[in-house]
Amino acid sequence: MKQELDELLCKKYPKMMVNRNKPMMETCMCWGFECGDGWFNILDQLMGNIQHHIDWKEKQRTSAMAYNLMAAQAKEGNFDLFDDSMKDLNNPEYKAKRLSEVIAGDFRSVPESISQVTLDQIKEKFGTLRFYYTGGDDIIDGMVRMAESMSGVTCEECSAPAQTHGPGWIRTICEPCEIKREEERKAYHDELEQKRLLKEGFEE
Ligand SMILES: [Zn+2]
Repeated sequence: MKQELDELLCKKYPKMMVNRNKPMMETCMCWGFECGDGWFNILDQLMGNIQHHIDWKEKQRTSAMAYNLMAAQAKEGNFDLFDDSMKDLNNPEYKAKRLSEVIAGDFRSVPESISQVTLDQIKEKFGTLRFYYTGGDDIIDGMVRMAESMSGVTCEECSAPAQTHGPGWIRTICEPCEIKREEERKAYHDELEQKRLLKEGFEE
């Protein structure tokens, strides 16, 4: 993947990219994203959804813990935190009703923290994206599977709909990109051949 797209992902998702500049003895992530630019959107959406899920869960957790602390105090007759949570409200009737609900009600369940996802290696293998990472939960695992399967129907060069095909080098690439690559390969070989002939001409 070209440098500017790599840098963009590092900038947008710094928490996930902590291994990007570590030495190669420690992580394969030092090689960057080992796939074509056509999968940039898949990676961007995947990483965005993963980070949002982690941050949202953390927010839920913080809010549940704050509520429980307030409710525990209110049940013991200390209304400081309750009053604080209602300070923008000018409706004494609603406030009294809410307080009795808090006192009589249950505590909120506090969700587990999700450990921050960090990327270990991102590459193309047999025509599809491989997203190796540490951390996360089952939901994130599902997101990764979905993204990997989308790469199997998305051109790795240009993002157009495509199919995974071989033989030989198995890749997911659309027909126009395949033709373009074939032309480039031919042009490269022709150039090599011309250089060889020229060199032979000189040597004779
Ligand atoms: Zn293409």
